[in-house]
Amino acid sequence: KRKHIVAGNWKMNMDYDAGRDLVKAVADKLQPSDTLVILGTPYIHLRNAASIIKDISNLKIAAQNCHQEESGAFTGEVAAGMLASCGVDYVILGHSERREYFGEDDQLIASKIDAALAAGLSPIYCCGEKLEAREAGTENDVVGAQVEAALFHLSTEQLAQVVIAYEPVWAIGTGKTASPEQAQDMHAHIRALLAGHFGQEAADGVSILYGGSVKPGNAKEIFSKPDVDGGLIGGASLKAADFIAIVDSF
Ligand code: 13P
Repeated sequence: KRKHIVAGNWKMNMDYDAGRDLVKAVADKLQPSDTLVILGTPYIHLRNAASIIKDISNLKIAAQNCHQEESGAFTGEVAAGMLASCGVDYVILGHSERREYFGEDDQLIASKIDAALAAGLSPIYCCGEKLEAREAGTENDVVGAQVEAALFHLSTEQLAQVVIAYEPVWAIGTGKTASPEQAQDMHAHIRALLAGHFGQEAADGVSILYGGSVKPGNAKEIFSKPDVDGGLIGGASLKAADFIAIVDSF
């Protein structure tokens, strides 16, 4: 059975003290369960966060980006191996904000996925269509092309390390969620594409998360869908009580 995952994406929020307090609050409130909980923090928190959560088996730390090269003259960048050396297990890649504001395209994101896997990190690969595509009815083609470009070059063993997050751009930070049916339809579409390329068994093992305005009040209904294996949570991951309420929605 696929793993249920609730991951927080703090984005560019939380100074050092506030971030440390939030990690501690989540660690204190989290109950042991089969749901894997991941905190995606800015770089400055990673090392300390990893040390705070190290004895909690269902809590892990993610970075929000990495560079595609192993090391070198890339001022301001951080390599996947450096993240792993801090106790980080996951890295969010291909987020729509990286695509939109930092010019990341599918080819670059694919190379970052390769770098992450080579360093022993599990990528949380984000895909999702913009409003125009949803209105034009081309969302399946757009997301399908993203998934193919980023993941189809992987081996089945590598795919098993990947988590996918479907995040329709029009639902991020807008208060507008995809309906549970829209999420289910897209997740089933993604899984069918994976099955066509990697085989049904491999596809059935991949956790596909929904992201976009998930809150304590709507998480349960979204998570009830058969192909929705959890959530990637932005705004609501910044308050421990809200985030834990979402974790407890499974
Ligand atoms: P919100 O939950 O704030 O809409 O953000 C979703 C997101 O982008 C998570 O990566």
